[in-house]
Amino acid sequence: MMLLRSLFISTISSHRFLLLPSLSVLQYLTKPHTSKLLNVDKNPIIHGILKRTFYNQFCAGETGAETRHCVRTLKDLGFRGVILTYARETVFDHKTQSAHGLLGAHQEKTSAAAEETDTCIEEWKNGTLETAALVEEGDFLALKLTGAGPRVTTAFAAGHLAPEQMLSALRTIAGDCKARGVRIIVDAESQHFQAGINATTLQLMREFNKITPTSSSPAPAAVVYNTYQAYLKSTPAVVASHMIAAHQEGFTLGLKLVRGAYILSDDRRLICDTKADTDAAYNSISRGVLKRELGEFGGLYGKHAFPATDLFIASHNRESVLGAYRLHRERVDEGLPTVRVAFGQLHGMSDEVSFGLLAEGEADVVKREEEKEKRLGVKSNGVTLGSSRQARLDRVGAGGPDVFKCTTWGSMSECIAYLTRRAVENRDAVLRTKDEYNALKAEAWQRLFRRA
Ligand SMILES: Cc1cc2nc3c(=O)[nH]c(=O)nc-3n(C[C@H](O)[C@H](O)[C@H](O)COP(=O)(O)OP(=O)(O)OC[C@H]3O[C@@H](n4cnc5c(N)ncnc54)[C@H](O)[C@@H]3O)c2cc1C
Repeated sequence: MMLLRSLFISTISSHRFLLLPSLSVLQYLTKPHTSKLLNVDKNPIIHGILKRTFYNQFCAGETGAETRHCVRTLKDLGFRGVILTYARETVFDHKTQSAHGLLGAHQEKTSAAAEETDTCIEEWKNGTLETAALVEEGDFLALKLTGAGPRVTTAFAAGHLAPEQMLSALRTIAGDCKARGVRIIVDAESQHFQAGINATTLQLMREFNKITPTSSSPAPAAVVYNTYQAYLKSTPAVVASHMIAAHQEGFTLGLKLVRGAYILSDDRRLICDTKADTDAAYNSISRGVLKRELGEFGGLYGKHAFPATDLFIASHNRESVLGAYRLHRERVDEGLPTVRVAFGQLHGMSDEVSFGLLAEGEADVVKREEEKEKRLGVKSNGVTLGSSRQARLDRVGAGGPDVFKCTTWGSMSECIAYLTRRAVENRDAVLRTKDEYNALKAEAWQRLFRRA
């Protein structure tokens, strides 16, 4: 079933004449509709079609039970853990200068609500705590801050910190996660809100990633990560300003690096002129952090020491992902300075990159063990220990790269903007999806043929 669904999505994604109309329908459904006929939660036919196709391919579930089941399935595939997001968000369309994503009812509720307590923030907090309860130690909880409604988005649009009620909700969530060994990633969203999101996340990093004078060496792992979109021309300067803050104020910078997913709705002038420029920006930040030498930070001639940083490479681009993994491995092998790094791909996308990374990591672990055995001439009662590949892996445990799958849960209407972005990405990656499509087609034929 999963294979057939993947093949179906891949068939649409790799044929423009199928993808463009599907994309238009998704974009149309993203807009708030008063008619029940076009409401993705209320019309059972639209809901059923979307659920069995796009939704199940890219999202975890509409309920806690469905989501838990999906998280377990992903972990059983060999990933270190999951990144789980509650889908509710607000997207700002630069062309129409309008925000959409949160339904009108929520906005009305807020204006009618008492000044002090904002019900949207309260609902978002409860939904996020519910999401946090679905993940376990070692997993990540990802937050879309604009999901907390108009009071928060108004502050963000003005470049301000989130309002006090939201900061208090975030402190409760971060405190709960820290106590359970769950890390938090704050997602990057429409650039219209990004200055406020950056300021708010920086504040959380100051509070939750603090390096105390008694902290052990190396610096404690980041509990909170901010997301940096390499496609924004302003990103290198934002990264530099956050590195200065981490260095001067003594906290670990949690740096999740993405290319950026809002190209269709953001102001194009703020985004790198070409894909090659975005690629260069992404790879130079990633390599610089892994070498602890970026701009004015680190290296022999850096103006500032390189701050404690934990890197998260979030990408489906094989060159960026494998390049970062190999550079990190080389530096570890040669005893050169580097940072802790983890990798993530989205659920339902680029499984070949995720599994390729796991396979390369496993091969490295086995190779290292063989070299160690040769060096030490390890023997036990005359028998060389762990002669088989599996025995070696069992002995050293999972020593390969930390690979996570990132998935989203929520009702169909909450997830529809997210689904639309995934469809846009597939349109932009027609070449990549062609490869995936051919591989899936071959696999489906092989299974059918074997059964016959
Ligand atoms: C685990 C994970 C978490 C993510 N979280 C976020 C998040 O919080 N916020 C967010 O915005 N995105 C997020 N994304 C999506 C991400 O930003 C990218 O849209 C997506 O991963 C595709 O980029 P890529 O690195 O996989 O590589 P590719 O497929 O090689 O690159 C595609 C990307 O290149 C850029 N691009 C394409 N054409 C052009 C052009 N003409 N000019 C300039 N740039 C161009 C766009 O950013 C496009 O998405 C996440 C992705 C992953 C895997």
